Amino acid sequence: MKVLAIGAHPDDIEIICAGTMTKYSKRGDEVFICHVCDGSKGSKTLTSEEIAKIRRAEAIESASIIGAKSLTAGIPDGEVVLDLSCRLKIVDVIRQADPDLIITHNPQDYMTDHINVSRLVFEATYLASLRLVKTDYAPSTKLPYLYYMDTLGGINFSPTDFVDITDTIDTKISMMMKMQSQIGWLKDMHDSDVEEYIKVVARYRGFQAAVFYAEAFIQAQMYPQGLTKRILP
Ligand SMILES: [Zn+2]
Repeated sequence: MKVLAIGAHPDDIEIICAGTMTKYSKRGDEVFICHVCDGSKGSKTLTSEEIAKIRRAEAIESASIIGAKSLTAGIPDGEVVLDLSCRLKIVDVIRQADPDLIITHNPQDYMTDHINVSRLVFEATYLASLRLVKTDYAPSTKLPYLYYMDTLGGINFSPTDFVDITDTIDTKISMMMKMQSQIGWLKDMHDSDVEEYIKVVARYRGFQAAVFYAEAFIQAQMYPQGLTKRILP
């Protein structure tokens, strides 16, 4: 199976669903991790060019821990808008992976890039398969299943599915620790210790699912992608 996780910024996938991506990778699935934005606003001291370069390198190194391919749409932070240009960039991300399953942000989350990525992925999931939608890459060959991952802090998110990440949370934290430029940034912006954040949220979701650590999801149910089997690990 091919699995594509699409998050807004370099660190979102790592914080929210890297435990599940690790499970897919371990069982032999091909994993792609896309950060739609270039990370160019995530520093208090560096220029946009400097921080974008650092975050791209961090993303590639983090993905390599589980043998995942790192993709980006290269859209500047804060500039993910609902227009044709952004939509076609997401179409191209999907076409590069040709996935069986896509995981992305919930339609409601804490900031605009996340919300718009969710909407653009929803739109592009269908359009990527259409031969007459012309982009740089060949049309995808299937209509992938779509899941929404947990929101930041789990706010306004009532899960339909859980994945037990008790055996992959250490790898998840290692992946996040490769995002060194963001550790201090998250502390400054949100007074958040990211390792503590990952453990607290995973423990709460684990409590709900009667395991120790879990990640939470909602399946986007739409015609004709109704599921008759479990596709999450
Ligand atoms: Zn983000």
